[in-house]
Order: sequence, then structure tokens, then C-alpha cells
Amino acid sequence: MKEDIIFNLKQVHDRIENACKVSGRDVSDVQLLLATKTVPAERIRIAIEAGENLIGENKMQEFRDKDSELKDLKIERHFIGHLQTNKVKDVLKYVSCIQSLDRLSLAEELHKQLLKENRNLDVFIQVNTSFEESKFGLPPTEVVSFIKEIRKYDALKIKGLMTIGLLDVEKEKMRPSLRLLREIRDEIYDAKIDGITNLKLSMGMSQDLELAIAEGSNMVRIGTSIFGNRFLGKEIWNENIAE
Ligand SMILES: *Cc1c(COP(=O)(O)O)cnc(C)c1O
Repeated sequence: MKEDIIFNLKQVHDRIENACKVSGRDVSDVQLLLATKTVPAERIRIAIEAGENLIGENKMQEFRDKDSELKDLKIERHFIGHLQTNKVKDVLKYVSCIQSLDRLSLAEELHKQLLKENRNLDVFIQVNTSFEESKFGLPPTEVVSFIKEIRKYDALKIKGLMTIGLLDVEKEKMRPSLRLLREIRDEIYDAKIDGITNLKLSMGMSQDLELAIAEGSNMVRIGTSIFGNRFLGKEIWNENIAE
């Protein structure tokens, strides 16, 4: 089990390195986030002790359940799932970044809670670039105005954009939803919104890692290629179903 995870991690790093080489990018521009939903704490520990430091969960409960077993490790935690407004306070106990900011009511609730706690929070704006009904995220055409609106919530530090690309067995069908996130970033830069610079793109999963890096990803979120298949009968994107 330990050997498997370490072997898989090396393979993923090789894939990242190769993809960077192919597109002439610097490896240091692409971070690896471990997508650890359903992965038990002891398996996460193996990856952290092998040198990783960034994990993402889709549910507050998973952060909570694994917290005590991982307490002694230095881990950066991002929230990458659909966040219900009534979970904001609990999630903030665990994370330094929320990658799934996708609506005004959530921005407002986060800001309110952050003011109470006298702190800031990094956020990524989740965009639905695959136009699939089942996925969360802002419609691409609304991102610029959304950013303008949430700038008043100044405890939120806008660090980038996140998308879950369209997954398909055909490689080239996956590319447009990744490219679109980069184009949206360009559009945001063109709008010259005060204080909005250096936005990162969080995109790329086990299946589309190489394409995502070719399209400019700065953070790939990898689960299956590191920890193996998840045995889930439920729709993994939709926290509302699983709860
Ligand atoms: C599960 C998940 C991933 C990782 O997907 P894999 O295909 O297992 O690599 C990435 N991002 C999000 C938001 C996820 O829920």
C-alpha cells in the first residue's frame, strides 16, 4: 500500500514534468493538490510523509473526520467541493482556501464569518466551463461581473479560477473546457479590475492532467492516479446527494 502510493506519486510528478516540458512551461508553475475525498487518513499520511503538502476535500465532514489523525503533519488544506452556506463556519476551521466560490450568497456568508474571526481567506472562483448541468460553478459569461461584485467583500482574496473540465474518453473533447478557463482569465485581465492580478488556474484531474497543463493550469487536483479508484455509488460532485 505504501509502495503503491509512493510509486503513483512519482508517476504523477513525471507526468506533470513531461507535460511542462512539452508545452515549454516551468515545473514550478504547476502545483499538485491531492484530491483526498474518500481516502483514509493513513493513506493521506503516506503521501504527505513522501513530500506532498497540499490536500483538497469536497466535504467538511471529511476534513473533520481525518483531522485528529493528521494533526502532527504540516498540511495546507483547500476546500474543492460544493459548499453549503450553513457549513461555512465549520469549513473555515480547517482550510486556508476555498476553490469553489460560485455564488454571491456564499461570498457574503464567508465574508461575514471572516470578519468575526478577523482573518482573510484565499478563494478561487469556480466556473462551469463544460456547460454540464450536473456541475457547479458560475456560467462563464458571469465571471467578470461576479468579481466586480465581490470585491467589496475584502476579506476574500481572489487567487484564481477553478474548473472541473469535461471528462471524455476522447482527448480533444476535453480541451475546450480547459482552454475556456484561460480565456476567462484573459477577459478578467482585459477588464482591468483594481487589485485583480496574477490569477492562478486550478484545473486538471487524473484524466486530463496533460491537457490542463498545456492549456495553462497552475494547479492540478489529482485523486485516482495517486490513491486508486474510489468506490462510490453516488454522484461525487454533488454534496447535496451524499448528505
Ligand atoms: C475528485 C476530484 C478531483 C480529482 O479527480 P480524479 O479523477 O480522482 O483525479 C479533482 N477535483 C475535484 C473538484 C474533485 O472532486
